[in-house]
Amino acid sequence: MTEPYDLFVIGGGSGGVRAARFAASFGARVGIAERSAFGGTCVHRGCVPKKLLVHAAEYADAFHEARGYGFAVPEVGHDWAALVAANVRETDRLGGLYRAMLEKAGVEIHEGDATIVGPGRVEVGGAQLEARKVLIATGSHAARLAVPGGELGMTSDEAFRRGTLPRSIVVVGGGYIAVEFAGVYRALGAEVHLVHRGPTLLDRFDDDVAAHVTAAIAARGITLHLGRTVASIARGGAGLVVTLDDGRTLEGEDVLQATGRLPNTRGLGLEAAGVALSARGAVVVDEEFVSSAPWVLAVGDVIDRAQLTPVALAEGMYVARRHFGGLTPPHVDYALIPTAVFSRPSIGTVGLTEREAKLRHEVRVFRGTFRPLQHAHTGRAERALVKLVVDAVTDRVLGVHVVSDHAGEIVQGFAVALQCGATKAQFDATIGIHPTAAEELVTLRS
Ligand code: FAD
Repeated sequence: MTEPYDLFVIGGGSGGVRAARFAASFGARVGIAERSAFGGTCVHRGCVPKKLLVHAAEYADAFHEARGYGFAVPEVGHDWAALVAANVRETDRLGGLYRAMLEKAGVEIHEGDATIVGPGRVEVGGAQLEARKVLIATGSHAARLAVPGGELGMTSDEAFRRGTLPRSIVVVGGGYIAVEFAGVYRALGAEVHLVHRGPTLLDRFDDDVAAHVTAAIAARGITLHLGRTVASIARGGAGLVVTLDDGRTLEGEDVLQATGRLPNTRGLGLEAAGVALSARGAVVVDEEFVSSAPWVLAVGDVIDRAQLTPVALAEGMYVARRHFGGLTPPHVDYALIPTAVFSRPSIGTVGLTEREAKLRHEVRVFRGTFRPLQHAHTGRAERALVKLVVDAVTDRVLGVHVVSDHAGEIVQGFAVALQCGATKAQFDATIGIHPTAAEELVTLRS
């Protein structure tokens, strides 16, 4: 009988791999099970292939816009299948690196579906394993519409591997995944309809940001159907026909369902193990990522706090340090999570929206829009938006919001300033870098 693992991780994505590697580096005996490919959603079906598609969209725009800078650009074709193949090569390469990192750290790898079969007992591919602690890092899956024909069309998982670019598509959803895919399809020449039940896209973001981006996306030729839901999907027309709640129909070669993601907890044996789940099926954990069964921990999308890779990494790191490194690291801080939406134009944001801030603070708001210098020659009328939400009493900057090209790159640095508690006076005292979009954040006066 082999010694039980100190830690057995179910799920080799961002959170699971981080926790496994670092727990092993602290001397723990660690095993990990992965049923698909190491690297998880981010590497194979999320952030990485998504950003590569966004880069393709940027090139498509650049070919058109370069004409304004004196280039004689002929009509350029695009080979979607070649792009998908290149993306798969790159994500396979990254997956291999994740696996190699685990092996180098001494983590024992088990390929297959893992289930909890008793206290401290896990089954993977017929083999029974024992562990003092089990970490659930199984991620999330795309929810499908609960309407007639809801099984038709694709989710983002299939979209990354689709062999051809759909000439027309109906995208359902108003969150970042819907908006990002819609932008890519449009830039590469598809006719795109976007259906969302809310009055603006990206309605979890600051109201000004959501309104600004919604208008910009429409101006880029995506047909928006806001305040509408999908009643059904059926085969027909160009491929699929989507009937909206007002009876109107939209046709597309395909449909992309991007209406949210649910935690992967079904079939894991969690209920029998005494692990409490939320109404959405997420593992309920305390601030040390311990569930209601003290030997079961959980991190990442499966706890449904913030479905982002850097958050899963921070949670996995906390678990390794706290439970296997004998350390008392600071709790994961969910208050200042910087994030980007790689829409066209993109969003970068950190801290509170104006609406959130007003619930707790007396606020001053600084806002400006401007035409990016680059577009002086491109013919694009699109404007950028910068906004600061400031505590009127302490002068502390509570939120930074940017809509512009490269907004994520701009906001990452400002996130450090907010972590340090920067005030508006300190923003004002900072000398800008001219001419940039980022300088607008340190020159906002009204
Ligand atoms: P995952 O990375 O999903 O890993 C879970 C792993 O567990 C998977 O590999 C799965 O195969 C495995 N697994 C599940 N059940 C079992 C089982 N029973 N046995 C064995 N293995 C199992 N985040 C960002 O920060 N930036 C972005 O730009 C971004 N873009 C995204 C775009 C898309 C289209 C999607 C879908 C997500 C995106 N995300 C982005 C979110 C990000 O991918 C997730 O937040 C992150 O991957 C969560 O990590 P995780 O470790 O919790 O789960």
